[in-house]
Amino acid sequence: MVAERGLDPSDWREFRDQGHRMLDDLFDHLQTLREQPVWRPIPPSVRQRFRGPPPTAPSPLAEAHSSFMRDVLPYAGGNLHPGFMGWVQGAGTPVGMLAEMLAGGLNANLGGRDHMPIEVEREVIGWMRQLFGFPEGASGLLVTGASMANFVGVLVARQRALGEAGRRQGANGARLTAYASTAAHGCVTRAMEMAGLGSDALRQIAVSADQRIDIEALRQAVQGDRRAGAQPFLLIGNAGTVDTGAIDDLDALADIAKTEGLHFHIDGAFGALGVLAPELKLLLRGLDRADSLAFDFHKWGQVPYDAGCILVRDETLHRETFAADAAYLQRERRGLAAGDWWPCDYGPDLSRGFRALKTWFTLKVHGTDAPGAAIVRSCALARALERRVAAAPVLELLAPVTLNIVCFRYACDDADRVNRAIVADLQEAGEVAPSLTSIDGKVAIRAALFNHRTDERDLDALVRGATAFGDAARRGAA
Ligand SMILES: *Cc1c(COP(=O)(O)O)cnc(C)c1O
Repeated sequence: MVAERGLDPSDWREFRDQGHRMLDDLFDHLQTLREQPVWRPIPPSVRQRFRGPPPTAPSPLAEAHSSFMRDVLPYAGGNLHPGFMGWVQGAGTPVGMLAEMLAGGLNANLGGRDHMPIEVEREVIGWMRQLFGFPEGASGLLVTGASMANFVGVLVARQRALGEAGRRQGANGARLTAYASTAAHGCVTRAMEMAGLGSDALRQIAVSADQRIDIEALRQAVQGDRRAGAQPFLLIGNAGTVDTGAIDDLDALADIAKTEGLHFHIDGAFGALGVLAPELKLLLRGLDRADSLAFDFHKWGQVPYDAGCILVRDETLHRETFAADAAYLQRERRGLAAGDWWPCDYGPDLSRGFRALKTWFTLKVHGTDAPGAAIVRSCALARALERRVAAAPVLELLAPVTLNIVCFRYACDDADRVNRAIVADLQEAGEVAPSLTSIDGKVAIRAALFNHRTDERDLDALVRGATAFGDAARRGAA
């Protein structure tokens, strides 16, 4: 049978009621987060229900909604929950959720052309340009996340080094080399791979005890490469490393980049938005000297996934990295195919969603002050946790606390095994969910305090739980 009305509801009254129920269920969920476990293992029966054949026949919306409520919502990743401190993840906001609904309703395609959603993205980028002290003419683009933003940064730097010929011929024998510290995120290595430059061309420079790049070692590496006939082209600074939150000396890096003629890119995935907190501004000195800056709204900015951003100082260079002619992308002076800014000229995507709207709503409704205050609060919580770890005889701090990430461990024989067990036990108990990392070869419990809902109760639960599970794991082995 041919559907009579395409895919719109045949009974809008009933659809509307169902839609309101769905919205209410989410509000209930968000209002009662603390009463639920942060995470729970997925029962095999639930997993099994999601291994079926493609559904050919229609089924009621209410049924799909019930499946979601029963099988998906209770087994989500936990990052909304105040006890979540596992990875560098934001918690989202109810405002962001509603904005996602509006964006979904519009189903806008932000590749280009002349429509208001594009102006919303432009405004968000303009706000960021001002916030980060980039010049008026600087350019930017919303992307999925910092992985993509760092990739775009590497491509822009490659464009600067190779020019137009690079787009046609690739590196063509040029031995381009890039520099970042050993604490850089893995996506930087991947960006070098994807850019066709190869991960061997990324020199990973040693860090000092505070996890910041060793400036002298960097200088020597660049000069050594130059003597050996390579072409240093890119320096990547960290504004908040993923493991410990360390911030490189960005001012010193900017100076080196200038002297050595390197493109200066900063991975500020979460740390860059620290500029919203007056207390952190000093640590981030030099951020405004970057040639390109990658950061995320979906981490400390609390915008729902996914929402990352790249800013590029030189708009022309940014456009030259990506823009291409194609008949179907023809620009007109009037009509829908007009518009003087087409995002598809500034990144790899043509079809693009309206992720600007949830970012715009979050900033409009909360201002920059409220997320800034949440950032300050999460750093204060980290310092409080640092004090508690220092005061607990069995716990040991493994890295200095710069921002909001605390790495520590239960100190004992066989500590790697015991600390792995502690983290899994904590996650399964469902009260708090830290993660594991490794600091100087030691397995560490990592509490990354990004969630705007986390408070002192969650720190109590973490310290209490880590101590109790550690005692038990040690006894278990004895
Ligand atoms: C999270 C993170 C990334 C990757 O960002 P995504 O948004 O997950 O793609 C890169 N660098 C650092 C320092 C990060 O914390």
